[in-house]
Amino acid sequence: MSERVQITVAESAGFCPGVKNAIDKVLELAKSRQRTIYTLGPLIHNKQVIETLKEKNIRAVGSLEEVKDRGAILVIRAHGVPPEEEARIRALGLEVVDATCPLVKHVQKNIQAYAERGYSTIIVGDKDHAEVVGLMGYTEGRGYVVDGPEEVKKLPRLGKANIVAQTTQEGEVFLAAAEAARAVAGELAVSNTICNPTRQRQKETVEFSKDSDLVIVVGGKNSANTARLFQICERLARRAVHIEKEDELGPELFKGARKVFITAGASTPSWMIERVLEKARELAGEAEGHALEKLAFLWKLAVTGSLYTALAAAALTYVCMRLEGSPVSGRFLLMAGLFAFSLHMANRAVEKGTAAPDRARRLLFVRYLRQSRLAALFCGALAVLLSAALGWKVFLAAAFFWAAGMLYPYKLPLGFERFGDFPASKDIVTALGWAFMCAYAPGLWRGGALSNSTHLAVFFAFLLVFTRSVLFGVSNAHSDMIVGKENFYKAAGPRFTYLTLFAIFALLAAVLLMLKDMGWRSGLASALLTGMLYYLGLILFFLFGRIPERINAETLIDTQFLLLAALAWRS
Ligand code: SF4
Repeated sequence: MSERVQITVAESAGFCPGVKNAIDKVLELAKSRQRTIYTLGPLIHNKQVIETLKEKNIRAVGSLEEVKDRGAILVIRAHGVPPEEEARIRALGLEVVDATCPLVKHVQKNIQAYAERGYSTIIVGDKDHAEVVGLMGYTEGRGYVVDGPEEVKKLPRLGKANIVAQTTQEGEVFLAAAEAARAVAGELAVSNTICNPTRQRQKETVEFSKDSDLVIVVGGKNSANTARLFQICERLARRAVHIEKEDELGPELFKGARKVFITAGASTPSWMIERVLEKARELAGEAEGHALEKLAFLWKLAVTGSLYTALAAAALTYVCMRLEGSPVSGRFLLMAGLFAFSLHMANRAVEKGTAAPDRARRLLFVRYLRQSRLAALFCGALAVLLSAALGWKVFLAAAFFWAAGMLYPYKLPLGFERFGDFPASKDIVTALGWAFMCAYAPGLWRGGALSNSTHLAVFFAFLLVFTRSVLFGVSNAHSDMIVGKENFYKAAGPRFTYLTLFAIFALLAAVLLMLKDMGWRSGLASALLTGMLYYLGLILFFLFGRIPERINAETLIDTQFLLLAALAWRS
């Protein structure tokens, strides 16, 4: 039997805090201001992300002259700009938003403070890089850019000098340059300004590269920090490649490789790293070895293809019907399943960077995005049609929630604001739609008029699905997906999000306890209370940062409903 390939992904891979902050800022502006947003140069060095931003009316320009629209907003990138350029931008009368990374600002201040005391500045970095161009502006005309110790030796004799690093500089290069600078400066201040996220990334890369047969560095070909990371890997690993996308990998790369390490630059989104990981597993044969891995692949197929979500919705409907005291009808389970499948699939089709494994995409849909839209339309329409047999009220409400869910990602005509412009709207729309299909529709069908038990089931379903949607948002943000304040997590921030989720848990648990004490379907209430422990565990798991890759996170979240249904069934 062939030896298994071990694939490790760097823990530090994914957007750095500076990039995350800049992207969040422009997305927030794009939502709230309805104006064209320009960034002076690409916001980050990653083609896939830039294309996504373009669709949201966020455009990169090469110079200020290209900004003709005086009503536009201009964003200063995470790299920062020289002070005189900032003054020029502000003089144009445009609205200016500064997204300079605080860690870059720290370097600017350091240079300025020393320059004001008469020091010359030596910057170890790439002279054409935007960050370095910006830093040079703070040197009061006494700045020198060097790419390493050899260039330091060519500098003129300096009196007092301050040596700093571009924030993404390689540690060893900076230290060697600082050593060489002692010979050219009368008095030398050494300011190691490599930022912490870069240090961690480099430390991890050095550790793993030494022990790897193949290192895959993911990131833009025009990204300086990715190129630097690649240089480190090339030096230390047996083989190293720098790719932008997963389709640049081929089977020949993996020949003889037993240990594979995947790392990425600061501007590479985690969803791209997940896709590279999937492809690497496929090419390395890791996914085809064990029966367990085959099972894992089928699992991913079900999650990516929204089948697991459909099952989760059917399971929740079962729980709601039990709460309502209805005889369980397969028709409702099917309707809810089709409804959830349709909306989940439609959402996947418009989002960028879905982490669907390559094989899954090939197997499920020849052209994943286009065909998944068709599947979503067909299943949703079928769910609405099935609801017609339950009376016109149910039909109209089902059609309304389905249309709202399908249209959610798009700008509506007639001057309506997008649904998505309201904070947490995505989570609320999702919870309302599911609560209707899983609890309200069966209640209407059963009683004609709504009973207290239906209200209880709607309340229960709404809060559980709201939690599900919020946790999906947390997982998406963790994967560096382009998400905005339509997600509760992005709108409220981590602290308030987890407080809310704990409050929902406490509320649901208290209601179930009360029902149990009152002797109202006490067996079912006890079973659901037990199931709520999984809910609590899930929130704690996410809170302590153990958020797995996206497909696994979705599995964990939707399993909640299957577990509740299984417990309800046994009660
Ligand atoms: S690499 Fe460091 S300094 Fe540069 S944007 Fe990211 S966190 Fe900020």
